[in-house]
Amino acid sequence: MTDIYGILAYPASHSLSPLLQNAAFEMLDIDAKYDFFEIPPAELSAFMQRVRNEPIRGLSVSLPYKESILKYLDEVDSTARDIGAVNTILNENGILKGYNTDTDAAIESLEEITPVSGKHIVVLGAGGAARAIVYGLTKKHAKVTILNRTQEKAQKLAEAFFCDFGRLDQLKNLKADILIQTTNVGMNFDCVIDSFYFKQAPRHLVVFDIIYAPRETKLIQEAVKAGLKVVTGDRMFLRQAMRQFEIWTKQKAPFHIMERLMRI
Ligand code: NAP
Repeated sequence: MTDIYGILAYPASHSLSPLLQNAAFEMLDIDAKYDFFEIPPAELSAFMQRVRNEPIRGLSVSLPYKESILKYLDEVDSTARDIGAVNTILNENGILKGYNTDTDAAIESLEEITPVSGKHIVVLGAGGAARAIVYGLTKKHAKVTILNRTQEKAQKLAEAFFCDFGRLDQLKNLKADILIQTTNVGMNFDCVIDSFYFKQAPRHLVVFDIIYAPRETKLIQEAVKAGLKVVTGDRMFLRQAMRQFEIWTKQKAPFHIMERLMRI
């Protein structure tokens, strides 16, 4: 019987995951199909019951369910538990196990370009993705400052992981080695900070924008124009998808085919 996997989100239709995962299944000759599960909140409980009883072997979990899904799971790995959010579910004979692949995906993407350990890293945003990333950075003993539009959220996240925090406009006063952009701003070709910042930013600054659609956000464009090294969000997306594939299938993900698809 064909194993079913899919993205659980609301809405879900813009996800790149089906393209990547179906290509990987095909490449490794695995009898599986990756689908969209666009489930409204009122139907989530019934859907999760369905997952236990049907050959739905795994799920990617996206907005708005990364936190609320926890109560439907039987086991949660330590990273996902510490973050308080799950982006991957494995169904092993009706036992639902939760994982979070965003943390390692973000850190590995950055470490392709620069070491993280001991660096001063400024994170813009304090939402779910920022939480997964800050967790990974502090595990690596980076010094992290969180800047967010809503102060209370920055403070809450900073207190959870022993970081500094502040307002977005305080960026210009900080001496950062790495800047990580995690807000939604950028999806619509806007920039969450004044692009003048890059004119006076330190030459060694590495800029990472986790937005992957578009790949070249305005923030990335301005950083490149200023001659800075950048990491684009598609690197993180690729790595979190590869880790999901490996959790589900226990096989090594076909990096080159998945990477090539991300460039289309
Ligand atoms: P979230 O939990 O909703 O957090 C959104 C963040 O964006 C909050 O800090 C929010 O600030 C900030 N924000 C929203 N609109 C803003 C505005 N107009 N000005 C300033 N700040 C604004 O979302 P999330 O789960 O963290 O995801 C954030 C983005 O990361 C999404 O676009 C998602 O697609 C992307 N992402 C990418 C990957 C990848 O693999 N590349 C993985 C995960 C997520 P307030 O607290 O003030 O509201």
